[in-house]
Amino acid sequence: MNRPALSWKIGSALGIPIHIHVSWILIFILVSWTLASDYLPEHLPGLSAVRYWVMGGVATVFLFLSVLLHELGHCYVARRCHIPIERITLFVFGGVAQMRKEAPSPSAEALIAVAGPLVSFGLGGVCLGVALLLELTQQGFSFHGMIVLCILLGTVNLQLGLFNLLPGFPLDGGRILRAGLWAWGLDFHQATKRAAMAGFGFGALFGLVGLLTLAGSLTGWLSASAASGGGWAVCMGMFLCAAALVSRRQAAFRHALMTVPVRELMTRTVMALSPGSTLDDAVDGRFQPYGYGAFPVVDNGHLLGLVTVQDVQAVPTALWSRRRIEEIMRPAVPSLFVGPEAPILQAMAQMAQGGWDRLVVVQDETVIGLVTQSGIVRFLQRYRG
Ligand SMILES: [Zn+2]
Repeated sequence: MNRPALSWKIGSALGIPIHIHVSWILIFILVSWTLASDYLPEHLPGLSAVRYWVMGGVATVFLFLSVLLHELGHCYVARRCHIPIERITLFVFGGVAQMRKEAPSPSAEALIAVAGPLVSFGLGGVCLGVALLLELTQQGFSFHGMIVLCILLGTVNLQLGLFNLLPGFPLDGGRILRAGLWAWGLDFHQATKRAAMAGFGFGALFGLVGLLTLAGSLTGWLSASAASGGGWAVCMGMFLCAAALVSRRQAAFRHALMTVPVRELMTRTVMALSPGSTLDDAVDGRFQPYGYGAFPVVDNGHLLGLVTVQDVQAVPTALWSRRRIEEIMRPAVPSLFVGPEAPILQAMAQMAQGGWDRLVVVQDETVIGLVTQSGIVRFLQRYRG
């Protein structure tokens, strides 16, 4: 999932920074309000409004702690699989743990995915167990308030675990599905695409059920209180659909980086400098008319080196008519050229490593093209949509 912008760090756990997104505040108020004005008065009648609000606030804090523990479950296993975690962000639809890289194997992917729901089921079991224990031991004391809160937390955690197990990416169940398809023989990209399609399907289904519930509530077929559940399902469905589409596009983007060869985006007309020409000729014939930051130096199709604007500027203008390109060029180090079949990711790594903004594409020791940073950006933009 994308990193939600507009978030603040509130602390850290297991050494992982925890952020809350601005939409989290909205859901915090909404959940506290629903609990204080609806759920608690119904299950614990006869208390003051202040009590309901305090209990509603406390319960909401525990609910978000549950979401956080679910995410920490994922993070704990991810760490064991040597995947660094950037941060955990809590937002309107729950939490998201941002991992710096993908799981190394289908089994690691499945283990990381299942860890979150397992934590939720564990918490659900503990809360319901405590509720049962209090129910059995309350003689003389009244633990009724605590019991109601424990049952609430227990059921919400069980629901959280179950919902996340729906087999649609990017939900945890969708990750397990992806791991399964990946283990089944599909490549990582194809598996992500299929699992994201399932995620889109579940999102659409949620939206549809939500719309029908809303319509039923408005026409009197269903109770008026069903409307909020319907509205929530519509929002959740839309979010799932959007998240599935984004995941699919990101998978396509990563796949392109790793598989599309440089040959597909290189410029075939190479504007080069000849080693014997003077700096005056190079500036008038190449640097000024084309405006590029650097040109390869080529002799009979063979790459000899590279000359950048800075290399030329370092020579006093008065000497430009006498100095030749071969005297100032940087020699052709291996990081400067790339084969036509190398994937884009490799070209990007070489550019970053050598500080180049362009690489020379060489086949059989002959220059056949140029690949530039701006060319890569233009090519990848189609995957960003
Ligand atoms: Zn999860």
